Amino acid sequence: MRWIPALLLPLTPVFSSAQQEQAVPVISVAGQDFYTWQQYTSSPLFQQLNLRCGTKAPGSVLDRMPTSDCSASSTTIQPEYVAAGHTLYRIPVVVHILTSGSAGSMSDARVRSQIDVLNEDFQALAGTLGENGNDARIEFFLASEDPSGNPTTGITRTNNTNYYNDNGSYWTTLAWDTTRYLNIYTNLASGALGYVPDLPQGGIVGSSSDRVVVLHSAFGRNAPIGAPYDLGRSATHEVGHYLGLYHTFDFGCGTSACYTSGDRICDTARESNPVFGCPATHASCTANDPFHNYMDYSDDDCMSEFTPEQVNRMRCTLSNWRVDLPEPALCGVAAAVVTRNGGLNLNVYTATPPVMGATTTLTVADATHASALIVGRAAPGNVTLPSGFVLLTSSSSTRFFSLSLPLPLGNAVVPVPSDAAVCGLTAYTQALLLGGSALAFSNAVDLTAGI
Ligand SMILES: [Zn+2]
Repeated sequence: MRWIPALLLPLTPVFSSAQQEQAVPVISVAGQDFYTWQQYTSSPLFQQLNLRCGTKAPGSVLDRMPTSDCSASSTTIQPEYVAAGHTLYRIPVVVHILTSGSAGSMSDARVRSQIDVLNEDFQALAGTLGENGNDARIEFFLASEDPSGNPTTGITRTNNTNYYNDNGSYWTTLAWDTTRYLNIYTNLASGALGYVPDLPQGGIVGSSSDRVVVLHSAFGRNAPIGAPYDLGRSATHEVGHYLGLYHTFDFGCGTSACYTSGDRICDTARESNPVFGCPATHASCTANDPFHNYMDYSDDDCMSEFTPEQVNRMRCTLSNWRVDLPEPALCGVAAAVVTRNGGLNLNVYTATPPVMGATTTLTVADATHASALIVGRAAPGNVTLPSGFVLLTSSSSTRFFSLSLPLPLGNAVVPVPSDAAVCGLTAYTQALLLGGSALAFSNAVDLTAGI
């Protein structure tokens, strides 16, 4: 679906007829008044105009795209974009609340609840409605510094009826540097539950219009719009677009070339039309439609996942299209190698500094034994054994890893995750030398992960 002019329908301000005795409509679309949000979202008009989301469909931006692993026209799944074991992307968010008098207003707490929902869904946090999804290792947080470096709540409020009606180029005056902040606006969203003007692959990155817009009443947990759109999944869906995902449906059935047609993803079943509600089964193409996916149009409580390939495409988008958006990995520690020895231990073990996002190479050079077993632990030790060798790691501490190398010369290349969780973490390692001569111990190498 495109963000088409047909959707830019006249929207009557909520309180335009407030002086009348009768109830005022909460929204007027295409000449029809709706007195509750439920009445509106359950109307034929809402489905007919595809107003679940006002984001454009693939196709219109294809000729503008440079080649990448996640272009507008295709997806190439790559191991470096897998979430597990890789960087936790932390994305600063500013939420701009656009109001018309009291219409559209909301508390800071409701804004924070929406950020919580985003994290639950994008990280598949246990014990939440998002737990059955796939962890994208993407975290959202309300910005604590504005573009000038001043402290902020990450929330702005602007009372402007034109802006509230999603008219006027409000972003030109309100946007915070769109390359460094995810700018979310809440207002009437032109009658949709939400939209983005374009995917990053469409060339919008760097423009002040780069944004996510969400209907104010559908924003946050237990949002006032009420069921079935009250669980904050409209924002989850729109942020999915913001990170490069298409709808799971394409008003066709794509082709079997699933990385270059449909939603450019293969682990979402091909789907012709959006699914509303939450059916037990529904197949519009070859298999059950992916109506549990955040990128369909189903009810909020029916949505439960981004697929692994969608995660791959989103992380690719962050790596290639939104490179300045995530905060740098929070690590001020330099990668380090410290060698220790004692007693009769053989000085045969060396390593290169474990730089996060790169590798460390562990090397044992000893012609007197057949193999080396390197063990990495969480704490150092200093226990002299009856044999005269010194155990230089604590056998009672957590064992991080063990690996075996053939001798006389063994090398192991070990990847070091680019992950704040390993920043400054030290693995205390030592090799046990086996076979050939009598069992022996090597020197210790203390490996501290850093930059
Ligand atoms: Zn959408």
